[in-house]
Amino acid sequence: MPRIAYVNGRYVPHATGQVHIEDRGFQFADGVYEVCAVRGGQLIDEEPHLRRLDRSLNELRMRSPVGSAALRHVMRETVRRNRVADGLVYVQISRGVAPRDHGFPSAETEPTLVVTARSIALEKYAAWAATGVKVVTIPESRWARCDIKSTALLANVLAKQHAREKGAFESWFVDRDGFVTEGASTNAWIVDAAGKLRTRPLGHAILPGITRGEILPLCRQLGIELDERAFTVEEAKAAREAFLTAASIGVLPITAVDDCKIGTGRPGPIAARLGEAYWTSRSE
Ligand code: PLP
Repeated sequence: MPRIAYVNGRYVPHATGQVHIEDRGFQFADGVYEVCAVRGGQLIDEEPHLRRLDRSLNELRMRSPVGSAALRHVMRETVRRNRVADGLVYVQISRGVAPRDHGFPSAETEPTLVVTARSIALEKYAAWAATGVKVVTIPESRWARCDIKSTALLANVLAKQHAREKGAFESWFVDRDGFVTEGASTNAWIVDAAGKLRTRPLGHAILPGITRGEILPLCRQLGIELDERAFTVEEAKAAREAFLTAASIGVLPITAVDDCKIGTGRPGPIAARLGEAYWTSRSE
């Protein structure tokens, strides 16, 4: 079945969907995006994802080309037209097409909107969850507003490639003080040596992950002690457990950081409990 993309008001074949060469997304990475998981044809955590999209737009003084109701409709329609049961839906908005000039284009410039959807093989995710994955650490090299979900992802691209070349699933960025910020496309968590769940508090250094935000109340419900505090690489290596979160994957256990075995070297029980609670609560 040919894939369909939504591009600026039209559903077009994915293979031929296009934006202009002077689109500011292409010229300057002057754009924002969102990614929602789809399970059983339903969008997961749609509300918080759309709230974050609005926030990203506001922080960059960009406007959305469509209202929230229209965007929801387009996301659903793109999922439907691509017959995605389990997968991902992407929304990308750029500041539009204008003659190349770093400063903002005129206020009338229409933002660009692209929505795509694709199926994912859940078995692959289940296999990762069963075995756990490795992460490697690299120095933080991103800009100072990582809380904005911008399409400017060059440092994240290099970090992911670094992980792949090291045989790892993810790279963890480490700030100048030795604290882990987050992964190239995931938030970072440990269960520290004292048994407390740790993750970096929100701020400009990390993306306010929607999955992260949804996991926090689950910790309280499950009686898991939480300490929203940054952790160092050394603390991660001494941790009982580590895991990462993202909309695409939920909760994924980590078994090694820089080739140092975490805990028993097998996926830990807290990651498993949270992962299960996350997907169960999404389907209620
Ligand atoms: N951190 C970064 C840098 C990301 O790109 C992502 C997801 O793309 C996340 C964290 C996880 O966020 P979410 O749970 O909203 O997918």
